[in-house]
Order: sequence, then C-alpha cells, then structure tokens
Amino acid sequence: MMNVPELFGSMVFDDRMMKARLSANVYNSLQQTINQGKKLESGVANAVADAMKEWAISLGATHFTHWFQPMTGITAEKHDSFISPAPDGRVIMEFSGKELIKGEPDASSFPNGGLRATFEARGYTTWDPTSYAFVKDNTLYIPTAFCSYGGHALDKKTPLLRSMQALNKQALRVLKLFGNADVRRVTPSVGPEQEYFLVDQAMYGKRKDLIYTGRTLFGAKPPKGQELDDHYFGTIKPRVAAFMAELDEELWKLGVLAKTEHNEVAPAQHELAPIYTTANLATDHNQLTMEVMQKVAAKHGMVCLLHEKPFAGVNGSGKHNNWSLSTDTGMNLLSPGDTPYENAQFLLFLVAVIKAVDDYQDLLRLSVASAGNDHRLGANEAPPAVVSMFLGDELTAILEAIETDTPYSAAEKTQMKLGVHTLPRFARDTTDRNRTSPFAFTGNKFEFRMVGSSDSIACCNIMLNTAVAESLKQFADELEGADNFESSLHALIQKTIKAHKRIIFNGNGYEDAWLEEAARRGLSNLRTTPDCVPHMLDKKNVEMLTSHKVYTAAELEARCEILMENYCKVVRIEALTMVDMVQKDILPAVEAYSAALSGAAATKLALDTDTPCNYEKKLVKKLSALADQMDDKAEKLSLAIVKLKMVDGIEEESATIRDEILPRMNELRVAADEAETVTAAKYWPFPTYGELLFGLK
Ligand code: ADP
Ligand code: MG
Repeated sequence: MMNVPELFGSMVFDDRMMKARLSANVYNSLQQTINQGKKLESGVANAVADAMKEWAISLGATHFTHWFQPMTGITAEKHDSFISPAPDGRVIMEFSGKELIKGEPDASSFPNGGLRATFEARGYTTWDPTSYAFVKDNTLYIPTAFCSYGGHALDKKTPLLRSMQALNKQALRVLKLFGNADVRRVTPSVGPEQEYFLVDQAMYGKRKDLIYTGRTLFGAKPPKGQELDDHYFGTIKPRVAAFMAELDEELWKLGVLAKTEHNEVAPAQHELAPIYTTANLATDHNQLTMEVMQKVAAKHGMVCLLHEKPFAGVNGSGKHNNWSLSTDTGMNLLSPGDTPYENAQFLLFLVAVIKAVDDYQDLLRLSVASAGNDHRLGANEAPPAVVSMFLGDELTAILEAIETDTPYSAAEKTQMKLGVHTLPRFARDTTDRNRTSPFAFTGNKFEFRMVGSSDSIACCNIMLNTAVAESLKQFADELEGADNFESSLHALIQKTIKAHKRIIFNGNGYEDAWLEEAARRGLSNLRTTPDCVPHMLDKKNVEMLTSHKVYTAAELEARCEILMENYCKVVRIEALTMVDMVQKDILPAVEAYSAALSGAAATKLALDTDTPCNYEKKLVKKLSALADQMDDKAEKLSLAIVKLKMVDGIEEESATIRDEILPRMNELRVAADEAETVTAAKYWPFPTYGELLFGLK
C-alpha cells in the first residue's frame, strides 16, 4: 500500500526537511532569505549546502546541478559530481555554499538574442531559495535564475520573480487603503491544467514528422475522429491508467500537487491538473511535470506529445493558466466577499484585471505565441487570437449597474452606489461556464486559456502580473491622494468599467460574428506569431514593463528576437521534414503501389487482352497525377526554403515564412493526404491517424 502523505515531497528539501536538518540559527537565517530576501551569509550558505548534500546523498544522489529555464526550450542543467580528491588518493563528497549559490555554466549556446557579447561567453546561475531543491535521477537539483555577466536576465525565472515583486508592491498599496494593515505579502496563485497526447512508441518511431517536429505533418482524416465525444472523461485504458498512476507517484515524490487525471476531448488526449500554488513554484512544477510525463510515458512504451497541434482535424492541446491573488493572511483577492466592504475591494481588484487585460491584450497574446500554438489559436476548438474576457451574467450585470448608476438587483432596487455600505451582496456563483473565452472568470480566479501545451507558463504570468501591477499602481496613485475615499473609489471603478468594458464578451468566441464584433470594438486580432511578437517593443509596452523593473529594454529586444528566431527555425525544420518524407517515403510508396497495380493489370491483359482493367487504369492515373503534384509542390517548397536565406532580418524572415512557406506546406499536405486515401494500407510508409489515435490497447 502506498502511503501518499509519506511519499509526497519525499525527494524535496522542503521546509520540513530544513527544520529537521538545519540548526535553529541556520534555519532562521535561511527563512529570512526566503521570505524577506535578506542576503545569505557565507557561513549559513555553507551549513545549508552541507545539510542539503548529506540529505541528497542519503537519497542516492552523486551529482548536483543548477537547474534553470533558458529563454527557449524547456529546462537546462549541467551535472557536477560531489567528488573532490582526498589526500589519500581517494575522494570525499563535497558541496560548498559557494557551489550552492552560484554556478557558471558555459552558456554560450543558449539563445541570448544578442544580450551576451561573444567575449563574455559565460553567464551565471544563482540559487532561487524560494523554490525548493529536490533529488531526481541521482542528482540534487537546485532551482536557479540565469543571468549574463552584465546582469541581464537570460531566463524566464528572473522576470517572473520580478513581476511577482512588482505585483506585491502595488497590491499592498491598494490593500492598505482598504485598511488591511496585517497583510504583508500578495502573491499570484497559479494552477496550470496540462493537456497532452499519448501515442504508441513503436508507431511514433516510424514517423519522422513526430520525431523531428513533435507533430504530424501528414495524415488523412480517419473515418472516426472526436465527433462522438466518447473519449472525454471516458474510461481510461489500462495502459494509460498505469501511466497516470506512475506519473502521479513520481510527481508527488517531487512535491508536485498532481490532483486530477482524465481523458480529454480528442482521442488519445489527456489532462493533468495540479492544485494551485505560488506562480513561481507552479512554473517550476509545470516544467517538471512536462519532463516527468515524457519519461514515464517512455517506461510504458508510449510517447507523450506536448505539441499544441499534433494532429490536424482533432483538438489541439493547451494549458489553462488559472490565476488569482492570495495574501499571506489567507485572503483570495478575486473572491467576492461576505460583506459589502469586502465586495468593494473585490470589485477594485476585478476591474484592475479587466483594465490590465484590455490595455495589454497584445502582451498577453504574444506571451503565448509560437509556431505550434498558431495552429491552435483560432481553430475552432481553441479560443480565438482575439483576447476577450468572460465575466458571466451576474458580474456583468453588477458592473453595468455601477457604470450607469442604475439599480442592480430586481429584488432590492438599490442603486449601485459604492459608498460600500449599500452595495448588495452577491453570490459566489461559479456555475457560469464558458469554454470559448480566452480569459474567463471562474468564480474566484481567472482562467487564461490561450497558453499552448508546451509553453512555459512563466511568460504569460510575467505579462499578467505586471499588467495588473500597472493597473493597481494607477489606482493607488489616484486613491492615495483622494479626499473622500468612498466616492473616489466609486468614481474610479465606474470610470474603469466605462473605459474597458469593450474587452468583456460573454458570448461564443468561436463564431465569426464575434471576430467582426471584436474588430468594431477595436480589439486587436493578432493571428500569428510574426503578427504579434513585434508588439513587444511597442512604446507603451516597453514603458510599462521597464517602469516596473520586470525587463530592461535590452532584455525585451532579446526576447522579441528569440521568439521570432524560434518561430523561423521550427517552421523551417517542419518544411524540410515534409520534403524529406515526400521524397524518400511517400513518393516511393505511391510509385510502388502504382507499379503493383500496373503489374496486376499487365498480368490480367496477358491472360485476356479484353480485360477492361478500369480500376487499375483509373487508380494508376490518379496516383500518377498526385505523384506529379507532390513532386512539383515539394520542389517549390524546397526552393522557397532556399530563398529564405536571401531574406534580410528576422522580422522579414518570419513574415516570409508565414506568407510563403506555410501555404506551400499546406498545399503539399493536401496532395499527400489525398494520395494516402487511395493507397493500399500495406504500401503506406508510416502509421496513419487511425492507428496513432486509436492504436493504444
Ligand atoms: P475546471 O476549471 O476544470 O473546472 P477547477 O476550477 O476545479 O477545474 O480547477 C482548475 C485549476 O484551477 C486547478 O489547477 C486548480 O487548482 C486551480 N485553481 C482553483 N482555485 C484557484 C485559485 N484561487 N487560484 C488559482 N488557481 C486555482
Ligand atoms: Mg479549467
């Protein structure tokens, strides 16, 4: 029998472990570093390092690594062993405070967007004591931030921590105005729901597209897709159930709060939802979750696909970023309260988020931009590329009443005057459900649904935290100087609703009518990565992000470049893979089948010259025409890829990819998929959609 409470966090150097293994003095100093950011004395660092090492060795660790999150890719690590030579020619196991606090990975091959001049090829990693160290694969993992020697952030964690600081600062100002003197810290809480696909490892191994790009680049629609809705929440296949059980166990050991496992809408698609935690930890844990998913899947003879759109024609995978604001006193600032006063505070935080999302739609959109997610946003299973907010009928009605100074509740007929004594109570109703909204209020949290399944959640939370910090800053500036708090508060909320209500949309976000309406409202519709990424450098965005010290202007330029570079590289690899598969696998298969058909016809004709052989003739003709088409389109695609080299500048290159490469890839696919539908199964060179999606026993 598994003792889950015992198992949970057993590989984590968490608070319980620190208390058990550190002296009271060292523990208290470390707590001050963790909670108040106090500098860590070297004596303390040495003591912590030593205790960590002893603990890690007791769990079988031989190595340690500074674990970090570079600007692209998943996570990075370089392993060092604990060994150190001893005078007697043997070794001892050593780990110093210096090694705990600072690492110097040779970082020259991590993307840096020009931030690190080549002469300073090294960056350094620094321990993030707010995220616990853990043991995995016989290695002590130390969560770290990654910077260049010039001090520029080369990772995703540093700006995330900065954004949490900015948000904390501004939220505390606002809370003070409401008399919450006891609150000392406000942190964003995040629960990311992770979607993924599982496919058979042997089938995966036969598809170059999956191996090289993580998604299928070809594949005719099988007779059955997701139309019966029989997979969602359906019974879980034994092999998948075994995977999920082991996944939970591995994640629990690492202190990840894996909570809910279920089947998703598309065949072979599943979801894992953790219990929410602090944004920083949730980000680290989500990276770990993605990694562990892939490892555990391999142990079960499967491959976990984290791509946003592994299969055309069925739903893609996203990550719902559930976000709220928690205080150290246990309040959720996005939870409607029990008293009018609490509700006034709730409404102010609510309109702060509304204003933030409206003012920085473009930043939220580009925080989830990638070549993979472009296939998902706007397809009819995922939210559109237009950012809008769903509030539900009741909240919308309340905001309307405040905006127009009209009675809200039919029963009470009281005016929504935010003198706060008269504000009617409203229920914490979470029954409103809208699955099509990119940014939905779900009772006591917002759910940002545009995030792609392989994205780091750091990026969207950085933008969200900072944009909300900006709203709160403006609010605090205004209210701190007010003569009459209550009337100023009312005026401020009313003014904010008026200015930003265009972002609220409670209808069906999948309909074309909404896109037209959104355009009339002046909402931005940035459909692809090349469309949205350059907006990172818009004046208003740079000013906002730098004023809260979340990014420097140079860091933003670097990120912009890296995002576009990554987009270009990804699509280029996809295009090359398509050409390769067509030329080396698909065309030869089609030719072989045509030859077999021709041979069959020739044999029949030899037997009897009057045999009509209509079937063979018709099919060979069709296959031949499709082969010519594929050949022609593959050649044009190859040529377009070669011509890319002549395009100057990354912005132009990404636009060319969007306008020239992707449409050619689509055309090539159409011809190949048609060929698949008329080619005998045993000739087709790799597993089909039907086999991949329904093949797990
Ligand atoms: P669903 O959205 O699928 O109906 P839930 O609302 O129960 O499911 O939760 C989805 C995710 O939201 C979970 O990861 C959960 O931990 C997280 N969550 C719940 N409450 C909050 C909150 N106050 N702040 C942030 N995340 C939350
Ligand atoms: Mg959800």
